[in-house]
Amino acid sequence: MGVPFIDLKSQYLALKESIDGRIQKVLESGAYIGGPEVAELEKKLAEHTGSQHCLAVASGTDALLIPLMALGVGPGDEVITTAFSFIATAETIVLAGAKPVFVDIDKKTFNIDVKKIEAAITPKTKAIMPVSLYGQAADLDEINALAKKHNIPVIEDTAQSYGAKYKNKKSGAVTTAAGTSFYPAKPLGCYGDGGAIFTNDSKLNQIMREIRDHGSEKRYYHTRLGLNGRLDTIQCAILLSKMERYDWEVEQRQKIASRYTEAFAGLEKIDQTFTTPHIKDGNGSVWAQYTLTVTNRDLFQKKMTELQVPTAVHYPMTMADQPWYKQNVATTHDITVSRWAADHVVSIPMYPDMDEKTQNIVIDAVKKAVEFSVKQS
Ligand SMILES: *Cc1c(COP(=O)(O)O)cnc(C)c1O
Repeated sequence: MGVPFIDLKSQYLALKESIDGRIQKVLESGAYIGGPEVAELEKKLAEHTGSQHCLAVASGTDALLIPLMALGVGPGDEVITTAFSFIATAETIVLAGAKPVFVDIDKKTFNIDVKKIEAAITPKTKAIMPVSLYGQAADLDEINALAKKHNIPVIEDTAQSYGAKYKNKKSGAVTTAAGTSFYPAKPLGCYGDGGAIFTNDSKLNQIMREIRDHGSEKRYYHTRLGLNGRLDTIQCAILLSKMERYDWEVEQRQKIASRYTEAFAGLEKIDQTFTTPHIKDGNGSVWAQYTLTVTNRDLFQKKMTELQVPTAVHYPMTMADQPWYKQNVATTHDITVSRWAADHVVSIPMYPDMDEKTQNIVIDAVKKAVEFSVKQS
């Protein structure tokens, strides 16, 4: 039996009683959309992140699209974002009708390089959308300061960093608005698609609430263009159970990450490209991924597969280089570091319920695969 990349089933079993009970309650209530669990979850998530408002939505994609729509981003506008993220980030900008402007990343954190943002700002820039990749918040204070200077809003893509520590705050509560995802494999996942939006702006919250429900101010009265962006009551019920041990899970991931990083010390002497994750001072990662860089990723992955330890690449191409975007979105800024990352990053198994024995199997395999990939290339 090989190691799983992520083990969602053991997490369910640990919470089975609570989850089953809450689901049963929803089933018996008949309130499958807009049941009391929705407001209960929104309150809990707002409290947990320290954000004034939270809106549960149907996916992480909607959690980014709705703030863009609410802020009036549309045709002719530009939105600055990182070149290195999951495609949904750029996709929502295009869906809103605007043009994504890709900026390069910092080589150590893989988050947008703040030093390169200002050169990308034009009179058309309508928002900045940083992504807090792999579980670590982007440089949100610096981005907020730049945005303030140019009078533009910031929407944090916190799909991989729900609740991550950022100085004395938490990812999701630092910018004009933020969107997270509850896709099952995300740090806080439900059992289907889901997401949430955060904001401290009451007026923006009201607009986003209306957009989430077909742009209706009241029933069958539509003052805005909206969509169906609601999150089902059952998913909210599941998330309420998941929240019971989320902080514990983050601690577990943190412990495993520390063990990994300690165990991998010295591997950079064998492979000069080898790095372990760099977490900035003041930041705490929620470890959506534990991501290494290696010189020869193909050989590294080949050996890992042989040793029955799965790996994944987040992401093998920059968003700018994806076929549709290459054809339809002209990229003008230098994205050398993003392209380098796309060629060298590799993520290894990481989940809160991973026991020590499994951790040791992963550690051992990484050491062997690094040696193998250097000898073979
Ligand atoms: C997962 C993810 C999204 C999209 O979330 P969905 O819930 O799958 O729609 C957006 N941005 C990033 C960075 C993600 O990882």
